[in-house]
Amino acid sequence: MSLNAKKITHVCLDADDTLWENEPNFRRTEREFYALLKHKLTEREAEDKLFQTEMANLDTFGYGVKSFTLSMIETALNTLDGEEAARAARKILDLGKNLLQTPVILLPGVKETLEKLTPKYHLAVITKGDLLAQERKLEDSGLLPLFGRVEIVSKKDTSVYRSIFRAWNVNPENILMVGNSLKSDVLPAVAAGAQGAWIPCEDNWKHEQTEEPENPSYVKLNALTDLLTVLL
Ligand SMILES: [Mg+2]
Repeated sequence: MSLNAKKITHVCLDADDTLWENEPNFRRTEREFYALLKHKLTEREAEDKLFQTEMANLDTFGYGVKSFTLSMIETALNTLDGEEAARAARKILDLGKNLLQTPVILLPGVKETLEKLTPKYHLAVITKGDLLAQERKLEDSGLLPLFGRVEIVSKKDTSVYRSIFRAWNVNPENILMVGNSLKSDVLPAVAAGAQGAWIPCEDNWKHEQTEEPENPSYVKLNALTDLLTVLL
């Protein structure tokens, strides 16, 4: 599979773990959370219990740090009692606040790559998560002036991509969607008619993992900087 680069006018980027580091911060916070429960649960048990809670809460709370924090609190309250549970809940609130205040660290070559693409392509961001948190990260990233459009949505499925592309009044085949999650960045955007580029990241959240199709309808790149090779 290769891109039809001649048709591409719009390059849309996922944000977390595509433009900047994110998953490593969640993994670090999870390990601190497991430590709060370690006299009751093994790390594996705590991991399973938290993941089940997150999945049960997804439709109610959506994605992002605040939802993650509430799920950690719920898991702790289901595991600990009384004073100990209250102490853990307070500590988890701090973990959540720290996660929200983590400085944005761009992935290597991201700014330079986008600056080289911007004379030739319309650049946009399509990201999901907490509205306020994603706005802050975009602002802190210093990349905001490079993007003509920013869409912060509660989930990224085919119908969401379709309505974004329709609202932009851009033919989907002229759009390249780029991201680290095959499941929420690439496959649904391709199903909505866009072209896709997948840049896998290590440490992907279990919920974002999915099987690679045998005949991929997208390109797989090693890093965002590879866009320069395929698009310029
Ligand atoms: Mg991502």
